[in-house]
Amino acid sequence: MAIYVLLGPPGVGKGTLAEMLCAHFGFLHISTGDILREEVRRGSELGRRAQSFMDSGGLVPDETICAIMASRLQEDEVRRRGCLLDGFPRTLPQAEAFDRLVSQGAPAVERVVLLQAGDELLMQRLTARRVCGACRAVFNVLFTPPRQDGVCDKCGGALEQRGDDTEATARARLRVYGQQTEPLVRFYDQRGLVLRVDASQDKHEVRSQVCAALHLA
Ligand SMILES: [Zn+2]
Repeated sequence: MAIYVLLGPPGVGKGTLAEMLCAHFGFLHISTGDILREEVRRGSELGRRAQSFMDSGGLVPDETICAIMASRLQEDEVRRRGCLLDGFPRTLPQAEAFDRLVSQGAPAVERVVLLQAGDELLMQRLTARRVCGACRAVFNVLFTPPRQDGVCDKCGGALEQRGDDTEATARARLRVYGQQTEPLVRFYDQRGLVLRVDASQDKHEVRSQVCAALHLA
């Protein structure tokens, strides 16, 4: 079965597309973010190591990520069902490490789906979250807005923007994404593997374009 890599900036809707494709085709959705959060929750050695990087605002090193993915990609289930990789490879060294795994018998990348959208739209989405300061209820000013601006529907508390969701943080995330991803896209472009999809469209339209291009019915 095929291995697909999903690339795209934060806020572009990778998670939504992954969910739709995996529900429909039975692919495994392998998200490095989910794996790391799970390891942190379990308090494993790997989780503790990853947490220390995340706490200091840094990225988890390539070596750690590659170690996780090496074991995951060798699993029978991956071969049987195919998978959608979300968050790996994220850097050029990770893509090169992936090639080494393939030479040791892991399945190779079939296509790379690159979701694209303008910075303006991404900024709107990334800064749309509001959290109630009193009861912690979460709202989204674009998709699930509160009935009254800035006021929690559930308890009347004041809604706040968390540090992660501010404009400065969102810009920084998009910048880091661009720096890391450009070399990666060139790497896969040289092999003719990259499928570019306009992700500013409706999510069902995005899904059907991806399916058509990948010859998934
Ligand atoms: Zn509240």
